[in-house]
Amino acid sequence: MNTLRIGTAGIPKSATKRSTQEGIKRLAALDLDCMELEFVRSVQMGEKTADAVKATAADKGIALTVHAPYYVNLNSRESDKVKASEERILKAARIGAAAGAVSVTFHAGFYHDDDPGVVYPVIMKRLKSLRTTLDDEGLSIHLRPETTGSVSQFGTLVEIVGLSQEISGVYPCVDFSHLHARWGGGSTYEDFCEVLSFIQTELGPEALATLHMHVSGIEYGDRGEKKHLPFEESDMDYWAVIRALVDFDVGGWLICESPILEDDAILLQQAYKALKEG
Ligand SMILES: [Zn+2]
Repeated sequence: MNTLRIGTAGIPKSATKRSTQEGIKRLAALDLDCMELEFVRSVQMGEKTADAVKATAADKGIALTVHAPYYVNLNSRESDKVKASEERILKAARIGAAAGAVSVTFHAGFYHDDDPGVVYPVIMKRLKSLRTTLDDEGLSIHLRPETTGSVSQFGTLVEIVGLSQEISGVYPCVDFSHLHARWGGGSTYEDFCEVLSFIQTELGPEALATLHMHVSGIEYGDRGEKKHLPFEESDMDYWAVIRALVDFDVGGWLICESPILEDDAILLQQAYKALKEG
């Protein structure tokens, strides 16, 4: 049986201080299992803090993942923007690895007016070179392009799984809420099973043993994602997600990106325990 760890996207609201280490301690007290380091604006953490975070996380039994900055576009037409995007991903990966994180996720880029078939090899080439750089530095932290929520963003399930097939050390980050938004809502248990079954077929069962995932409530329109919401205010059926995860014996890290972070992460944890034991 695989281990699924459930936690929050960043420091939980109820932490006594807005520090990563306090966040880790608070999650442990809440009986949650992992935290995503949210480097979404920029990577501010230094080496010294990363060392301390690593020690605290190990001590408290909290696994760590990383979200790289949002300002990433590996399909930019401006070469300096591509370069800056690559640097942001590398910086997030390096400091994440120093903090003991196992996986770094990011939104790979935008299509602009390009055909998705043209964008795919561009992103693949740049991702390959990022992987090589990290490998040369001896860093095995997973690179995980995310399934994105907006139709203007590169990152369908097929694209992300394709990249994972072609580049070793690259794996999918599955955001179920983004998929729900891209599909225009209405997703069911069967849809989530199909996602997992596709990953299993294309990448093998080990891909489901250590899967990096996001989930939250979500508001969406014709072009996909608008914003994240608490589950209670959304039509996102998290029970259906959890049921599919249990039925496929998915392990890895399920990060709750709801605005009420740990409150919704606890709902996920409760649902998981109920279905796993039930
Ligand atoms: Zn994301």
